[in-house]
Amino acid sequence: MNEETNKKEISAIKGTKDILPQEARYWQVAEATARQIFELYGYRELRAPVIEPTELFEKGTGASSDIVTKEMYTFVDKGGRSITLRPEYTPSVVRAIIEHRLDLQPQPLRFYYIGPMFRYDKPQKGRYRQFHQIDIEVFGEKDPAVDAEIVEMAHHLLKKLGVEKVETLVNSVGCKKCRPAYGQALRQAARAVKDRLCPDCQRKAEINPLRIFDCKVETCREAAATFPLITEYLCEECRTHFEQFRSYLDFYGINYRIDPTLVRGLDYYTKTAFEIVTEHLGAQNAICGGGRYDDMVKEFGGPDLCGIGFAMGVERLLSVARITTPKESFVYIAYLGEEAKKKSLATAREWRQKGVECLVEFKDRNMKAHFSRANKIGADWVLIIGENELARGLFQLKDMNNSQQYEGTNEELLKIVKQKGKQDAST
Ligand code: ATP
Ligand code: MG
Repeated sequence: MNEETNKKEISAIKGTKDILPQEARYWQVAEATARQIFELYGYRELRAPVIEPTELFEKGTGASSDIVTKEMYTFVDKGGRSITLRPEYTPSVVRAIIEHRLDLQPQPLRFYYIGPMFRYDKPQKGRYRQFHQIDIEVFGEKDPAVDAEIVEMAHHLLKKLGVEKVETLVNSVGCKKCRPAYGQALRQAARAVKDRLCPDCQRKAEINPLRIFDCKVETCREAAATFPLITEYLCEECRTHFEQFRSYLDFYGINYRIDPTLVRGLDYYTKTAFEIVTEHLGAQNAICGGGRYDDMVKEFGGPDLCGIGFAMGVERLLSVARITTPKESFVYIAYLGEEAKKKSLATAREWRQKGVECLVEFKDRNMKAHFSRANKIGADWVLIIGENELARGLFQLKDMNNSQQYEGTNEELLKIVKQKGKQDAST
């Protein structure tokens, strides 16, 4: 490496970003709220690795999906294995269920997970290469009531995070029995307008014409608007399931729009597909996408276990959420001299163990400088430990929010700080 490249600043990889402490506060609230709500519905966290064998996604996400054909971060490791940074979570959960025989546990099984996903997408607002998802999955429940319950749960979370003006789009994408005939009709329709489709969709027309509905190119969208709709092709079972799903949504009072062109970007969906969109995010308007995948576990060589789930994009969620972060109250300890410094360290240690945030800084400062520093960093309290205070065993505590000053022993002052903290939390 020459000196020039040595000096060059290293920046984050395109499509990834740092979440700095101030912003991370919002992430913490969103994540904690999601965990709290999911646990209320009986979901438990399942943490799978970030890296998985490439074939997991080729098989699970689907060889003809955009994710697998264009978006995967795949590399060969030192042992010559093809590894992929997970682009979505569902295949990992399915793998884990089979690997640990979780299907032997009482069903339905309910899991959630929050973490990073990786896709070689075109970076832009609401679209990143490392992004984050809040993901839930349910296994072993065929009843359409659960399809509606997960939509209701997604709305519960969105409401709690102050997300307004969302629209829920629903569809049924049929099953193995009814989709082939629809695929055939679609293929014919796509062939008829082939010259108006983008090269990508021309290919899709042969392999998986359903995917054309997912294309964002305007001419493809126009062409797709003339295609036959799945609704006409659903078998009796899928039709009934879809009707019942919608009647449960009505029961919950969830407004939705039926969108027969909603097919979702993954290959494995059966029956229910849904998306929650917002008007605020432009082209990247989907906050949450989900659906049923009744054949996936079996196709992976596992038991015949149906599944359904959704994934919410955290970046998109946060860009429309209205979150208030908790006020952080902390004590700045101002000391003078070496002996007082040690006393400060001991006091900070004790108060932290009792749940109070304390800051002791090591720059030699006079009292005035201590106070201006405490002010600058927004301390709520300044605890003063000087020689005088040491000698008497009585310290001064100043409430920086109203300048009120207290004198007392260590225990007395700690009590005041804790008491005030409690009052603030309850207002
Ligand atoms: P899109 O059509 O916007 O590409 P998708 O259908 O590929 O979305 P899903 O696979 O359903 O997305 O993922 C679920 C959610 O994850 C999306 O609704 C979105 O909120 C979020 N998401 C997907 N890809 C990205 C990305 N590259 N950057 C940020 N968020 C993303
Ligand atoms: Mg996508």
